[in-house]
Amino acid sequence: MLMNDVVIVGAGPAGAWTARTLARLGARVAIVDGSHPREKPCGGGVTGRALALAGDAIDARALPRCEIRAARFVDSARGLSASVTLAGGDLVVASRTDFDGALFAAAAAAGATPIRSRVLDIVADTDGFTVTTRDGSVRARTIVGADGANSLVRRRLARPFDRADISIATGYFVHGATSDEIVIELTADPPGYIWSFPRPTHLAVGICAQADQGLGVGALRARALDWIRARTMEHGTLEPYSWPIPSLSARSFESLTTSGPGWYLVGDAAGLVDPITREGIYFALLSGEAAARAVASSSEAGARRQYDERVKGEIVDELVRAARYKAGFFRPRFTRLLVDALAESEGVRRVMAGLVAGTQPYETLKWSLARTAELGLAWRLIRSKWYN
Ligand SMILES: Cc1cc2nc3c(=O)[nH]c(=O)nc-3n(C[C@H](O)[C@H](O)[C@H](O)COP(=O)(O)OP(=O)(O)OC[C@H]3O[C@@H](n4cnc5c(N)ncnc54)[C@H](O)[C@@H]3O)c2cc1C
Repeated sequence: MLMNDVVIVGAGPAGAWTARTLARLGARVAIVDGSHPREKPCGGGVTGRALALAGDAIDARALPRCEIRAARFVDSARGLSASVTLAGGDLVVASRTDFDGALFAAAAAAGATPIRSRVLDIVADTDGFTVTTRDGSVRARTIVGADGANSLVRRRLARPFDRADISIATGYFVHGATSDEIVIELTADPPGYIWSFPRPTHLAVGICAQADQGLGVGALRARALDWIRARTMEHGTLEPYSWPIPSLSARSFESLTTSGPGWYLVGDAAGLVDPITREGIYFALLSGEAAARAVASSSEAGARRQYDERVKGEIVDELVRAARYKAGFFRPRFTRLLVDALAESEGVRRVMAGLVAGTQPYETLKWSLARTAELGLAWRLIRSKWYN
């Protein structure tokens, strides 16, 4: 049986980007995923930084997408909302059929071998791994787990996520309606938010909450349906979806394992999602690129060290900060302060626009707010005890 340098399990953004990068660096790489073309349950919000990373593989102008002009934050308890203007290119929303399909095609064009099947098992031996798919087996010296939140690679070679580190996301694709603004309604019970993300032919409306909050998919989806109905918008069919999102606590991030002997986890399989905004596509691309460069450039031990250090320094340290802020974001008092501050202060609006676009790091969030001219408002936000 042919020995591949690397077999990648899963061809979402993380897997496709790992495969493309490795193939361009000269590795013999196969990528296994039988799902394409498919829609992944997702808002489909792609930030400017994600588009920039994938820019030489995806022609953003050719991608069917909505350019988002504004993000509206809603305080439903008081019936108030405030809008934040986004610059062109800060955020686009695309269907994952189109976005992921383009990345998968780019991986194949770079020389990665697509295997359109599903991985059923992975067994390690002395010189690599045997990957059993529904349609046969492949061999590899190195395995990359890019198989999402329910990762088989993670379950076989590391350990599954704790339930407390997963959030449930569910809602509807609302066909026949669209917009150029995203809507974010922060909810205290359960702590999380309802969103509406417009694509060219439909809205992706959803709600997410931590899986250990006691609310199942049915109850959450009913909330999303009530929200859609309350808007009395004209629309066509409602297509339900639900999917887990890794949403780790600070402690879980601090003890995160992203590699082991001969294997690497990237994207959702590694847990690399912002636990507040649930942005995951950028981190999927970034971790995929980091894994590919490490595997291609170093000995096994060196590659693991290089990958783990990059993931910690460029991704995990920032996500730990988000996890620490998280509890405060969904409390009614914070929602009130935030919506008031957004309504009154251009400076605070600029900072929040940066947070939505992924350009405002959590590391400097307090200081960015403190630098706004409306120091009183910013200071109330900073001092709010949930912010610490
Ligand atoms: C409802 C919802 C809304 C979201 N909104 C946003 C958003 O607006 N913006 C954003 O940036 N992020 C968002 N996210 C997060 C984002 O969807 C993920 O972080 C991102 O898709 C991770 O990419 P990935 O490649 O790691 O995994 P995935 O995109 O999940 O891809 C995994 C791939 O692995 C394949 N696979 C799984 N198991 C196997 C197997 N055994 N064999 C072969 N293939 C397998 C699957 O078919 C899939 O193609 C959202 C998530 C959800 C659930």
